[in-house]
Amino acid sequence: MPRFEPDLQYTVSALSNQTDQRYKSLKEFDYIVVGAGSAGCVLANRLSADAANRVLLLEAGGRDLNPWLHVPVGYFKTMHNPAYDWCYLTEPDEGIAGRQLQWPRGKVLGGSSALNGLLYVRGQPQDYDRWSELGNNGWSYDEVLPYFKKSEDNQRGADHFHGIGGPQKVSDLRLRRPIAEHFIRAAEEQGIPFNEDYNGTVQEGVGYFQQTAYKGFRWSTARSFLRPARKRHNLKVVTGAQVARLLLDGKRVTGVEYQHGGSLQQANARAEVVLSAGAINSPQILQCSGIGDTRTLSVVGVEMAHHLPGVGKNLQDHLQIRLVYETSERTLNDELNNPFKQFMVGLQYALTRTGPLTLAASQVVIFTRSSTAAERPDIQFHMQPLSADKPGDGVHPFSAFTASVCQLRPYSRGEVRIKSADAFTYPEIHPNYLSDERDCNVAVNGIKVARGIASAPALKSHIIRERVPGGEYQKDEELLDAARNFSQTIYHPTSTCKMGKDDMAVVDERLRVHGLQGLRIADASIMPEIVSGNTNAPTIMIGEKAADMILADNCG
Ligand SMILES: Cc1cc2nc3c(=O)[nH]c(=O)nc-3n(C[C@H](O)[C@H](O)[C@H](O)COP(=O)(O)OP(=O)(O)OC[C@H]3O[C@@H](n4cnc5c(N)ncnc54)[C@H](O)[C@@H]3O)c2cc1C
Repeated sequence: MPRFEPDLQYTVSALSNQTDQRYKSLKEFDYIVVGAGSAGCVLANRLSADAANRVLLLEAGGRDLNPWLHVPVGYFKTMHNPAYDWCYLTEPDEGIAGRQLQWPRGKVLGGSSALNGLLYVRGQPQDYDRWSELGNNGWSYDEVLPYFKKSEDNQRGADHFHGIGGPQKVSDLRLRRPIAEHFIRAAEEQGIPFNEDYNGTVQEGVGYFQQTAYKGFRWSTARSFLRPARKRHNLKVVTGAQVARLLLDGKRVTGVEYQHGGSLQQANARAEVVLSAGAINSPQILQCSGIGDTRTLSVVGVEMAHHLPGVGKNLQDHLQIRLVYETSERTLNDELNNPFKQFMVGLQYALTRTGPLTLAASQVVIFTRSSTAAERPDIQFHMQPLSADKPGDGVHPFSAFTASVCQLRPYSRGEVRIKSADAFTYPEIHPNYLSDERDCNVAVNGIKVARGIASAPALKSHIIRERVPGGEYQKDEELLDAARNFSQTIYHPTSTCKMGKDDMAVVDERLRVHGLQGLRIADASIMPEIVSGNTNAPTIMIGEKAADMILADNCG
């Protein structure tokens, strides 16, 4: 287990419910933020920057004291660990051969940013322009770019697309392996251009990921946004506090009821409650509070407070199809399976903060098109110089790399639905993967693009064979079968409380819940459509913009 340098030791005693004696007995705040995840920590910081605002941040999980939460590769230890992960399991899903998938979600200060794959990706400008075209004024790319830059402190410096001096550290990888270089050359041989910065002028191309890390440590939003605010006397952070329901006075949300230390407690918000509990829990809290589709709620016996049929609907995710190639070139599998090399890996990290322990979930990224018909990149590759049966499992006992491909803008839509009025019972998650024929076509073509790269000269001579799905899968219907059987989530659920103007929208363009006062939602659930890339940076941006709007709307 790595030791921490004193200045990086994240002591959060000030973040517990003993934060400030002056606030210990307080039950009334200006703002209550529910969930200290990617968006919630941003909100807690920005809203409490003005000492006149009294802010309460409630987090169901605990403090982030485990060192593995701060070592980049620590997700292998924290994912699927109920101490830090909600450990959701999806319902059996016809589109993926009836399988159920584990859906980790962070349950700790930092939320999912504390156990995610660290990949820093914003998506395509057209994603945000599309949000704006759907009627969400203020969300075009030009309008959200300043918020991406505001949060950012990029190791490469500032330019038109990037910021420095923000709380969120973004840096280059501290690990390179030859097989990754071969993969990049092979992609170039297939006509995919090298791209130094997929968050810059264009997204399309092949290159190395940037990550939310600094000097070899993970930079979760707890680390980046919460820690600098921890000494503010007007911010109270309570961990181990799970919000059960919202308190309503007619159509006005006045506070929350939460479980803490074995008892139910209440806190009141004079201005607003902000739900930042993520794409599973934000709709769940709404539904348990009687806000949702009348039919869904009446089935489980929740008393209706406000009919809002879109709550929990419109669920989207990126489904990745993982291809595993056995290689003659040695990969990280060989290092991680050898006790002596494992020791050296630990030593390298201890001495230089480099090497495999700084591993983000992937090294090489490709954004490209699954067919010539695609107007812009519609698939993304994550390439890792290692392989396992599934993320978080031990690596294979042979040299291999993984190239997973996902569709960036799936058409399939799922749902999150409570199955009990009890706020502590997990909701049902129905992803409905590959339920739209267009997604099936992209899945098949994505495997073909992957095989094209694997057969390019720069890579072919290093490959012994395709292990997963394997050469026996050739015809289109067989490839679709492979997609249904060998796919996994990339952990990007979004859009269950979508922003918009239509009947299924849950929040408006200022993230206020339709038809209610005193309640906003700011997290991955508000995305009208999932972005073309990983979802952490966009969610931090949502937190930044939400804070700005809340402060503007409540001034004076
Ligand atoms: C394993 C994994 C790997 C990922 N890899 C990447 C990646 O490499 N790059 C990337 O960009 N994205 C990645 N993601 C996705 C990204 O991290 C999420 O999209 C993002 O963190 C979502 O932020 P959020 O604020 O919506 O929710 P979260 O960050 O999940 O925060 C929600 C918070 O609310 C708390 N909460 C929930 N319910 C309650 C309640 N009732 N009361 C009080 N608190 C509550 C939770 O405990 C949690 O702390 C990954 C996610 C996971 C899980």
